[in-house]
Amino acid sequence: MFNNRDVVNIYCIGRNYRLHALELGNEVPEEPLVFTKPSHSITEMAGGVITLPGTVGEVHFELEIVLKISDSYKPGAPINDCIDAITLGLDLTLRDVQSKLKAKGQPWLPAKGFKQSAPLGTWIPFPGEAELASVEFSLRRNGETAQIGCSKDMLFGVTELVNHIEANYGLGPGDIIFTGTPAGVAALEDGDLLEAYWGEQKLGSCNVKLV
Ligand code: ZN
Repeated sequence: MFNNRDVVNIYCIGRNYRLHALELGNEVPEEPLVFTKPSHSITEMAGGVITLPGTVGEVHFELEIVLKISDSYKPGAPINDCIDAITLGLDLTLRDVQSKLKAKGQPWLPAKGFKQSAPLGTWIPFPGEAELASVEFSLRRNGETAQIGCSKDMLFGVTELVNHIEANYGLGPGDIIFTGTPAGVAALEDGDLLEAYWGEQKLGSCNVKLV
């Protein structure tokens, strides 16, 4: 069983769903937009309370498919050889902080890499890229569907992302990849109950506390 403390690198993909890029007024990228989070940003969506910054503007939820790399990737080899598990994760974002950083051309770290900014659900076996694209994932907030997505709508698919990251930054066992969020992102409210579903299977939940 994989322990989240063993995560090595956290790669994240921005603007990988057309409708999400457009909802924030961003252009659709021509190649994957990659950023990272510190491993210290990881927390678990295991039913408990997640405490987040509540005094620096909006904290947006972004539900994403997360891939776990189990073995070094050899270009051209089947993708199943290097990914062994997936889960759903939240790429939590301080949106107002991010807007200011973007305006100044500064790195996104303060907006994307804060503590608890990467809650992860339970890992399940990677079903393969085709099967992955047959399942819808969703975020329910206080019982209502807030986001719904499917990997078939990714601008850059799993194989492309793995190739791109390996070629430019390196990829090895223990690395994870947040693959981007579908449309529907919004600001969290104190006390929100978030539940992440893979089809009908709940992979994680948490209560939000803003302080
Ligand atoms: Zn994201």
